[in-house]
Amino acid sequence: GVLAAQRRSAELEHLIREHPERFRVLTGDRPTGQLHLGHYFGTLHNRVRLQDLGAEMMVLIADYQVLTDRDFADRLTDHVEGLVLDYLAIGIDPERATIFTHSAIPALNQLLLPFLSLISVAELSRNPTVKDEIAHSRQAAVSGLMFTYPAHQAADILFCKANLVPVGQDQLPHLEVTRTIARRFNNRYGNGGNPVFPEPDALLSAAPLLLGTDGTKMSKSRSNAIALAATTDETAKLIRGAKTDSDRHITYDPATRPEVSSLVLLAALCLDCDPHQVADDIGSRGAGALKATVTEAVNGYLAPIRARRAQYAQDRGYIRQVLYHGNERATAIAEATLKEVRAAMNALY
Ligand code: ATP
Ligand code: MG
Repeated sequence: GVLAAQRRSAELEHLIREHPERFRVLTGDRPTGQLHLGHYFGTLHNRVRLQDLGAEMMVLIADYQVLTDRDFADRLTDHVEGLVLDYLAIGIDPERATIFTHSAIPALNQLLLPFLSLISVAELSRNPTVKDEIAHSRQAAVSGLMFTYPAHQAADILFCKANLVPVGQDQLPHLEVTRTIARRFNNRYGNGGNPVFPEPDALLSAAPLLLGTDGTKMSKSRSNAIALAATTDETAKLIRGAKTDSDRHITYDPATRPEVSSLVLLAALCLDCDPHQVADDIGSRGAGALKATVTEAVNGYLAPIRARRAQYAQDRGYIRQVLYHGNERATAIAEATLKEVRAAMNALY
């Protein structure tokens, strides 16, 4: 599980530093709302770092996947353009990175047919993240789209032969499905020592599961998130309302004090220091002092990001242009892979 993935991530860090050019990175987000600090410290910060180290970066806006747990994709244009603004604001560079929308790449989705044939219903049923998302879903019944979600993600990742996926902890079971599908495809259709797909690795950050203000996973859909784009006042208010406990002495102990520890961690990430140090500095001054520290740290950290975001927001034409070029590039990659897949399968007219 998580421990193994963390060990593997540490190994990968070395490989990336030595040979960034060997890595093609794919990650993405659903356009269901604004990106938040869970995204930032879970995956976005790693994306920028990998891009700057020289790895190739693909960023997918998973618009079809909005429909996995809701009936309509509300305010889709706003959300998609908002994601692009967030990416640009944090330092994703569209000259080096490919930012694209899922629904604009039909060749990518064609991979779903062979991929679905490589995974069993039992395997899909066992996926703990799908179970969790079903539990939080806004829909009464589980749709086929929700059920097959991990297979879509396999297509999203493998269409460009990405070998590295910087994600939060909730994505590890999905990534395992992607690896299984890649392996089975290669075994079944690869000619000898010539695999068609890599088996991609997850890259976890130091905060693979940041909790929200209610003490559960910070999530766009759970009203517990601090958005990157929130104002300083909104941020202060959200943090003031965050759940804590009755012990005035602040410590960092994620296993026994998840809510307090998650606030401590947030301050430490923003201040780039050790969470135990943050807790020691606050000592017995209680949750109020902790929240004041967190608010100042978060608002300070996000200030330049928010300023850049406001600037980019003035030019919607540019945002659409970024997507247009990203979609063109992703289409070319998807079509090349699909051609290769059809040739390998040697079974289609
Ligand atoms: P939704 O509620 O719509 O599912 P979400 O907040 O879970 O939204 P996603 O778009 O599903 O966000 O996830 C995008 C990426 O961010 C994934 O790699 C996911 O693992 C990561 N991520 C999301 N929330 C967190 C979190 N709280 N801590 C660490 N990583 C996170
Ligand atoms: Mg999610």
